[in-house]
Amino acid sequence: MRAVVVSDSKDKLVEVKEVELRALRQGEALVDVLYCGVCHTDLHVAKGDFGSVPGRILGHEGVGIVREIADDVTSLTVGDRVSIAWFFEGCGHCDYCLTGKETYCRQAKNAGFSVNGAMAEQCIVTADYAVKVPADLDLRQATSITCAGVTTYKAIKEADIHPGEWIVIYGVGGLGNLAIQYAKKVFNAKVIAVDINDDKLILAKESGADLIFNSKDQDPTEWIQHEVGGAHAAVVTAVSKVAFRQAVESVRPTAKVVNVGLPPETMELEIIKTVLDGIQVIGSLVGTRKDLEEAFQFGAEGKVVPVVQTRKLDEIDTIFTEMEEGEINGRMVLDMSL
Ligand code: NAD
Ligand code: ZN
Ligand code: ZN
Repeated sequence: MRAVVVSDSKDKLVEVKEVELRALRQGEALVDVLYCGVCHTDLHVAKGDFGSVPGRILGHEGVGIVREIADDVTSLTVGDRVSIAWFFEGCGHCDYCLTGKETYCRQAKNAGFSVNGAMAEQCIVTADYAVKVPADLDLRQATSITCAGVTTYKAIKEADIHPGEWIVIYGVGGLGNLAIQYAKKVFNAKVIAVDINDDKLILAKESGADLIFNSKDQDPTEWIQHEVGGAHAAVVTAVSKVAFRQAVESVRPTAKVVNVGLPPETMELEIIKTVLDGIQVIGSLVGTRKDLEEAFQFGAEGKVVPVVQTRKLDEIDTIFTEMEEGEINGRMVLDMSL
């Protein structure tokens, strides 16, 4: 089968290659992948930002149809529509797995990073961890919810935002445009969207943002403090350290700043401000299987509508370049049938 594989050559990030899948083991299912979204995390993985993984098949916004199950599998049947997410598997018995924090399991496996992912014609999944896609959700749109959607839905949960309160979203790319929709339509918050690109901000407005700000040449923090008295929470999906500092300066006392973007950089925090203003800066990593089930349901109900365009597997290099240049509005999705 054809797959997007992390390259072992220094001259390129990835290659589209023929790969043989191993046989199924107990507890596993074989999935015919139909679509896989391209997340900025795939670009981080390909660049080795989290450690080098040459030969790994990328992809963790996959959806497909179960073709085969191992004889002991009871949670899936052939023909089921399933997702292939970054949280691929946990140990199932540690403190994190048992207390609703399974994405932090120290034994967790991650699709497209520590195990082979979904940018391929087929993928082997751990059956009990492959979350089903609801019948009335479009499969192309479901790819975006599998990572971008569940991650931002969970981050907003972690932000403790209440109806009518202001939340500022830094970075309105693949994740951010869904963050706006979940914040508005599910959490009933008021949303400020900040990006360095006007096209993204037009989409942000269409996605429901109440206020937008282009931070390319101007600092948004004073404006946010002046307009709304400081946001009640911030979610940062921007791939740039400056946005993380700006988020802390955009919020009001006792707010939470939720770090989601993964630039391989360091964040500076003014200690006195965090103490005197009681500000909490926290990280949030994708979402549990239950979070994904909930995030899918809001998609199926039409409350959240991912903005997607389909492309060929062979176009992955171009897509990564466009992503780096900030040219993609919403998400690019690889269609395995093209
Ligand atoms: P993307 O490339 O689609 O979007 C990034 C957006 O940030 C773009 O719109 C870009 O214009 C904007 N941006 C860049 N610099 C900015 C700045 N200084 N201020 C405001 N906006 C700025 O990427 P994505 O797929 O949405 O992913 C975003 C980040 O989130 C990546 O680092 C990715 O790895 C990470 N991520 C984290 C998790 C998690 O579980 N925490 C899950 C998925 C993705
Ligand atoms: Zn992702
Ligand atoms: Zn565990």
